Amino acid sequence: MKQYLEASFILSGILPSESEEELTKFFNDFSTNINQIKDEGNFKIEKWKIGDKKLRIDISSDNSISPHVAILRIRKLLGPAIGKKFRVGVRGFEFIKYVIETEIEIIPESAFSLPLTESIEFKEVEGKKIALITIDPKMEEDFIEKGAVERIIKLVSEKISKQMHGAKKEHHEIVWYSGEKELHTEDNPTTLLQKANWIHRTNYRNQWILSPSITTLAEAVKKIMVDVVYQPLCFHQMMIPKLVDWSVWLRSGHAEGLYQGGFEPYFVVQPKEANPELFEEIADFITITKTIPSEMLFDKITAPIGGLSYAQCPPFWPWLQGKTLAKESLPIKIYDWSGPTYRYESGSAFGFERVDELHRIETLFIGSPEQVKKIGVETRYKIREVFEKVLELEVREARVMPWWLEQASQGETSDEDELIVGTIDYEAYMPYRGSREESEWLEIQNISIIGHKYPKGFTVKAEGNIELWSGCGGGSFERILTAFIAQKGLDRKNWPDSFLKYVDEIPEPIKFL
Ligand code: ATP
Ligand code: MG
Ligand code: ZN
Repeated sequence: MKQYLEASFILSGILPSESEEELTKFFNDFSTNINQIKDEGNFKIEKWKIGDKKLRIDISSDNSISPHVAILRIRKLLGPAIGKKFRVGVRGFEFIKYVIETEIEIIPESAFSLPLTESIEFKEVEGKKIALITIDPKMEEDFIEKGAVERIIKLVSEKISKQMHGAKKEHHEIVWYSGEKELHTEDNPTTLLQKANWIHRTNYRNQWILSPSITTLAEAVKKIMVDVVYQPLCFHQMMIPKLVDWSVWLRSGHAEGLYQGGFEPYFVVQPKEANPELFEEIADFITITKTIPSEMLFDKITAPIGGLSYAQCPPFWPWLQGKTLAKESLPIKIYDWSGPTYRYESGSAFGFERVDELHRIETLFIGSPEQVKKIGVETRYKIREVFEKVLELEVREARVMPWWLEQASQGETSDEDELIVGTIDYEAYMPYRGSREESEWLEIQNISIIGHKYPKGFTVKAEGNIELWSGCGGGSFERILTAFIAQKGLDRKNWPDSFLKYVDEIPEPIKFL
C-alpha cells in the first residue's frame, strides 16, 4: 500500500526561523525511528515548511506506517519538542490532500463511492490492480483517531470482493432429521386459520390480530417451553426493552448491516418538541379533514433515534455494559417473551409465517466458553424435544452461518466440534408447499453460540478475567404454530396427546353474520 498525505499543523503562533534546526532534527529522528522499527517498507517526510501559524508537511509511505497515524504521533511529540522553547503550541491539524493506493483483486465492474472519501478510482499498473482512494480532507479528527481511514480501505476491498463473488450465500447443512411424521393436511395453514376465524389480517402490512383461540395455542407453547426447556435447565424469565436506541445497535454490530440483507428494522422517531402548540395545526387538520397530513407531520419529528426490537436480545446487554460479573453469577440464563419483535419484511404480503409484528421466545445465556458451549448443546437438545416429541413435528436441524455471526466468528468455528460458534436452525416440513425434497421448509427456531461478540461489543468482563461468551436463540409463535397447523391441521383430534396435555379449552371463535 502506498499513501501520500499533505497536511498542516495549526499552531497557536508563528514559528521563528531559528526553529528550523530543531525541526529538521525532529523530523529526521522521527522518520529514522520509524524506518528502523519497521523491517520493510519506506516512510518519508518529503518536505515541511513553516507558514503563517501553520506547519506544512508532506508525507509518503510505502508499506510502512500510515501518514495519518504519523500525523497523530507527531502532534503528540511536537508540542513537548518545540512548544516550550518557541512558545508555540499545536492546536490541531488539517488535511490538504490524502491519497491511498491499495492493491485489489479485480477492477470492479461498477464504480462506487464511500462516505468520507472524495473519489475512488481504479487502474492497472504493471499488471497490478490498484484502487486509488482520495480521502475527504475535511474528515474529522475524531474519526481519523478512531480508525475511519483504515475502515475505508477495508470496505473498498470488501465491496470489490462482494462484486466478484456475489453476496455470500448462507452456508446451510442439514445435520439432523426427525424422520417422517403423521401429517393430517395439505392445506395452507394461514388459510385454515383465517377461515376458522382464529387470526385476522389488519390494515397494516403483515400484521395480524390473534384471537383467543390461537392465543391459547401460543400459551400452550409457552408452557411446553417452560416445562421442557427452561425449568430443567434453570432459565429465568425477564423483560427486555422493546424500543432500541442506536447506541445498542452500534454495539451489537446490527447498525452496520442496516438494510443490507439481514437487518430490516422499523425506525422510531420522536416529536421535535412535545408541546401542544407544535402539533395543534396537525390536530386541527385531522379534525377538519379526517385524514393524516403525513408531509406536515414530517416537519415536526426528529430523525430516527433507533427502532423497534428486531432481534430481541441486543437491548438486554446495556444491563451488563461496562460491568464486571461476579463468578458466582455465572452462567446467566434467561428468556423473554415480554413483547413483540418488529421486522420490515419486504416483498409481497405474506402469510402468518412471515409477519412484520411477531411474537418471539428469546433464550439467552452468558458464561465462560465452556459454560456457554455446554448450555448451547443442552438447549439444542431440549428444543429438539419440544418440536419432535411434544409437538410431534417433522423437523430437521440445519447448521448455518448468518452474516452477523460471520462477523464474530472468524477463526473460531471448528468442523469436529458439534456447535462452537455457529447457528442451528430448526426447519419444519410444510406439506402444502410440495414434496419433502423439493419444497422449502420453514425455519421455526434457531439457537446460536455467538462467542465473545456481545461481551466485547458491550465491554462486559468477568471476575478473575474469565473469558465471556454468549449464546442465544429465538423462535416465534407464528412460525411454530404455522408449522404445527400445516402438518396437523385444525382438528384437535389429530393433535398428539403430548401437546393436548398443555392446551386449555380452546375458546370458540367469534361468529360473524
Ligand atoms: P427467515 O430467513 O425465514 O426470514 P430469519 O433468518 O430472518 O428467518 P432469524 O433472524 O434467525 O430469522 O430469527 C429467528 C427466529 O425468529 C426465526 O426462526 C423465526 O422463528 C422468527 N422469525 C423471524 N422472522 C420472522 C417473521 N417475519 N415472522 C415470524 N417469525 C419470524
Ligand atoms: Mg428474515
Ligand atoms: Zn438473540
